[in-house]
Amino acid sequence: MREQHLRPSPISATVDFEADGVQHGFLRLPYSRDDSAWGSVMIPITVVSNGEGPTALLTGGNHGDEYEGPIALFDLALKLDPAEVRGRVIIVPAMNYPAFLAGTRTSPIDRGNLNRSFPGRPDGTVTEKIADYFQRVLLPLADIVLDFHSGGKTLDFLPFCAAHILADKQQEAKAFECVAAFGAPYSIKMLEIDAVGMYDTAAEEMGKIFITTELGGGGSATAKSAGIAKRGVLNVLRHAGIIRGEIEPQPTEWLDMPDADCFAFAEEPGLVEFLVDLGDTVERGAVIARIYPTGRTGAEPFEVHARMDGLLIARHHPGLIKAGDCCAVLAVRV
Ligand SMILES: [Zn+2]
Repeated sequence: MREQHLRPSPISATVDFEADGVQHGFLRLPYSRDDSAWGSVMIPITVVSNGEGPTALLTGGNHGDEYEGPIALFDLALKLDPAEVRGRVIIVPAMNYPAFLAGTRTSPIDRGNLNRSFPGRPDGTVTEKIADYFQRVLLPLADIVLDFHSGGKTLDFLPFCAAHILADKQQEAKAFECVAAFGAPYSIKMLEIDAVGMYDTAAEEMGKIFITTELGGGGSATAKSAGIAKRGVLNVLRHAGIIRGEIEPQPTEWLDMPDADCFAFAEEPGLVEFLVDLGDTVERGAVIARIYPTGRTGAEPFEVHARMDGLLIARHHPGLIKAGDCCAVLAVRV
């Protein structure tokens, strides 16, 4: 087993995962640096426990510029009463805390993309140490894992909750029951561009029920998108039997991402003009966007075409685009 030759994590929790009640504390990660010789990264964590029952691990800020998750989870940590809970809720609103504080996707310390750093290393970079702690300490405690994402500063999404197609069909079915309970406006069978190193993959390979979201983007949150996150997390906890009460049923449209033709990438840099908006449908071959060269007038724009019939679920943000950027993502109605 890999675990046997790894040293213990350098991260220590100021909360006791086995104690009942509500505890607000930190995951303290030693980080010696110019402005703090024996300093630490202090990642906020809340644990709310009450007796026997399942454990939900709720996370946001895996990418530091995505805000619906942190908003919903700072709010939940403030309000969740242990008397309402059966089992345990572990809340980490900002997993990659240095990235969250900097308002960037990756860590300003080591440029680490936490969601490409799993399983991590206890003797690696700051980001790898965070990944390792989730891999070997927090994920094993969990039955259900909800990891909030949004588009961040360079993508914008239709609001959806998602799970992945898995080899274990029972695990997959339970994940999609959680997606349905979350009740986002859209629910998706999600295909990843490259699943290697993702938290999602780490949780799924451990047999956990794992769901994720993309709830908006552009590096901010709206009242509507934050509301979807706040309602969704309560619905998932009700579905798991961790808190009492009926799930608030929400209309959702089920979508599928059948293959890599869902993704359209920019092949030239420039000024992007979208000819369709989020939620619009396009036919295969249609022009989704034009990219104008910015160096001169009188040059023809590069066209980004749909490689399949579908609904626009994500688009590049903001107005300038680089070669290789993900320009558009399509999905099909189920
Ligand atoms: Zn993300």
